[in-house]
Amino acid sequence: MDRLMQDEAVRKMTERYGYDPVLDAVRQALDKIRKKLGEIQSEEEAERELDHLPDQIEDILKEWSRYDLRRVINGTGIILHTGLGRAPLGEKAAAHASQIASGYSNLEYDLESGKRGDRSAHFEKVICRITGFEAAMAVNNNAAAVFLTLAALAGGGEVIVSRGELVEIGGKFRVPEMMEVSRARLKEVGTTNRTHLSDYENAVGTDTKAFLKVHTSNYRIVGFTSAVSLEELCGLREKYGVPVIEDLGSGVFVDLKEYGLQYEPTVQEAAEGGADVVTFSGDKLLGGPQAGIIAGKKEYIDRIRRHPLARVLRIDKFTAAALESVLSAYLDPDTAVAEIPVLHMLTCPLRYVRQDAETLAGMIRAVLREEKRTAENHLTDGGEAEEKGCETLVCISTGECRAAAGGGAMPGAEVQSYAVYFEPVQITAAELDRRMRNLEIPVIGRIQEGKYFLDMRSVDEQDIPYIAENFRGGSILKKG
Ligand SMILES: *Cc1c(COP(=O)(O)O)cnc(C)c1O
Repeated sequence: MDRLMQDEAVRKMTERYGYDPVLDAVRQALDKIRKKLGEIQSEEEAERELDHLPDQIEDILKEWSRYDLRRVINGTGIILHTGLGRAPLGEKAAAHASQIASGYSNLEYDLESGKRGDRSAHFEKVICRITGFEAAMAVNNNAAAVFLTLAALAGGGEVIVSRGELVEIGGKFRVPEMMEVSRARLKEVGTTNRTHLSDYENAVGTDTKAFLKVHTSNYRIVGFTSAVSLEELCGLREKYGVPVIEDLGSGVFVDLKEYGLQYEPTVQEAAEGGADVVTFSGDKLLGGPQAGIIAGKKEYIDRIRRHPLARVLRIDKFTAAALESVLSAYLDPDTAVAEIPVLHMLTCPLRYVRQDAETLAGMIRAVLREEKRTAENHLTDGGEAEEKGCETLVCISTGECRAAAGGGAMPGAEVQSYAVYFEPVQITAAELDRRMRNLEIPVIGRIQEGKYFLDMRSVDEQDIPYIAENFRGGSILKKG
């Protein structure tokens, strides 16, 4: 051990990683090699193992110093992939968040008066301008927004909800359970497929504190159906003085139909329809940071703000900064579609996605072909096979596939997309998938009918050369 610590290469490592971590790594490497030496027969082999020791020490140190939470490349075509962190932030929003994170800010400080301010003030006006609501605030996520709104406006009372809207969103958000923990009593009305205005009206009692509408974000009820519109429900509000709350799920500010996508109700429509309070996610179709936005009439938002849970569920300064930046992009819908990655990826014309697929396939073929010139063994013999990209290691092709919004948004709406397909020759598609996941910047793809593929709609164009480089030498495709 002492000898190793004196080794030139190892001494250099102590400068980079610190003395104690290197000592630990040396210990671990020695333990490993002791076990191995027991099995080794020849002296030459033992020598070779010992020669590799400094490299092994460095590998251990590298692994220890690597962050566990890392950037990955999303080749799944699921744009709002909850496992992969949902909405990626655009450059502007990320830069604003980073600047606010690394210094002091006027997070809760009113520069005008020099007094204590409100952290929602930085984006409240923008939300009101875009949506037409009077007041707005944000909390940790939309689950928190629903929870807080129910607790503040209906805690201890009854909330009337249609049976067709008792939704469960992935990751343990269930309307009935949310209701229970908020201390609001759920009063279900109507049936799964049909609920009428009279069902709501007959259920109103002295304990009724709110009507709740929930956007069926991740499923559709089709066939013989009937639901009560927000406008109709607002008629009852006038009669009984009970507020109408709408959980919109994905907050959408632009009419996605205009960009060739499936219709999603917008926040503006909810405001026009007369909703008293709406809640929606910051990191679904809005394309911002994880947050739950609560917007509505001032009297209700003030009550929600004053509830003790508002302090429990508040957002941090990075989120406030990112939200401010993303929301301000929406003052012009075309700017929003260009700057916000989620909208950009969803609306990108198929021909560009196809171009990206062909660029990636071309680059991979090129790096594999380069190898052929040196090693003469990676490609089948020229001609047609080479045109199709069939190598002895892999058959690469491009073709159409279906991307999706994901994140429980736009159910059933698939977006035409283009992918690069890989059929490895020496290894299985599952093995290629595993190797791609274990790259320095992990690449997450999909497998279908024995083929591994990368849906290019969710891949940033700038990552294409990196993905291709990993095929240099072809070892990612070789057996063993
Ligand atoms: C996604 C969703 C939620 C939960 O939002 P999070 O931001 O994930 O907490 C709540 N309600 C509806 C209708 C949703 O679609």
